[in-house]
Amino acid sequence: MRVVDAFVRPLTSLRLSVTDRCNLRCHYCMPEAGYVWLPRKSILTFEETSRLVEAFTGLGVDRVRLTGGEPLLRQDLPALIELLAANRRVRDLALTTNAILLRDQVKALRAAGLRRITVSLDSLHPDRFEKLTRFDSHPAVLAGIDAALDADFESVKLDAVIIRDVNGDELPDLLEFGRHRGIEVRFIEYMDVGGATQWSTEAVVSRREMLEILTDRYGPITPVDERTSAPADRFTLPDGTIFGIISSTTEPFCQNCDRSRLTADGLWYLCLYGEHGVDLRQPLRAGASGDELREQIAAVWRARTDRGAEARLGTDRRVPFIPIRRLKEEPHLEMHTRGG
Ligand code: SAM
Ligand code: SF4
Ligand code: SF4
Repeated sequence: MRVVDAFVRPLTSLRLSVTDRCNLRCHYCMPEAGYVWLPRKSILTFEETSRLVEAFTGLGVDRVRLTGGEPLLRQDLPALIELLAANRRVRDLALTTNAILLRDQVKALRAAGLRRITVSLDSLHPDRFEKLTRFDSHPAVLAGIDAALDADFESVKLDAVIIRDVNGDELPDLLEFGRHRGIEVRFIEYMDVGGATQWSTEAVVSRREMLEILTDRYGPITPVDERTSAPADRFTLPDGTIFGIISSTTEPFCQNCDRSRLTADGLWYLCLYGEHGVDLRQPLRAGASGDELREQIAAVWRARTDRGAEARLGTDRRVPFIPIRRLKEEPHLEMHTRGG
């Protein structure tokens, strides 16, 4: 069975946050001094996660991306990947990681059935990386990327959040880094979501500006002609190099959004900007059958009207979406909890 929401958007992509913990403190995601963590007993077991994923795949989900927090901090992650890869309805199984722990885990992840990897890396300068993330892990990230390239994945991509006066001057260098390694690079506009308490409009480098910078450097850039629900719009440089831009802040793409997010403790969010999640852990642990879970999920999705990023466009004098006080009261509002 397939379901569509109130705007006829199908339910096809699920992001699974497998932990709210992280081994970095990126300025745009976790800039604060302290965090409230999800209680350990509320974290879904792999079997519980896999049962919920089965309910989703029974309704049309065929793409699953593991994220977090930092997903590689979750103990024994390959065991979860094996369970998910055994679900024949999962056509695409991917992971987003900061890659610090990737070198040591990559073979087991690939062997378990992971198909694609996206590494987040915002700077090629170790000192800048440390300033941005508060850790001197740049060499570990580069080693993780090299290991991923050796591991025969269907694709390895690189995501970089671009922030003015932080790494706004690195677009060409990041593209070159990717081009030399056969990695498609995607530039992400700085978003005012969850934990981005330091966000300001001035710090956003828009898609338009990114294209201007790259056109100045490389010459005419052509959009790739494709219709997908993927968040990145793709472009081609004159030499054929392809890259992407995710323009969630200045040119959002909510009208095609088929994504939702499940937190490590089983709350389901229909939008990155959603303020309330649907508790699926409770019915799951109360013994709900697969049919009952599917019915609940389908009913919620049919009523979905979320278009968070588009709604933010209409905001006067835009400031961070969620004030710090609320983030402390409700950690599910954090990007690192709901999964980017
Ligand atoms: N820790 C992993 C990582 O960094 O790849 C996975 C989780 S992280 C929340 C997923 C993605 O969200 C990362 O690519 C990160 O750059 C992005 N992200 C986090 N906060 C953001 C913000 N304020 N604006 C845009 N992207 C953001
Ligand atoms: Fe950075 Fe990802 Fe950790 Fe957020 S969850 S602090 S983006 S590494
Ligand atoms: Fe989808 Fe919400 Fe992001 Fe819009 S803001 S693309 S509706 S998750």
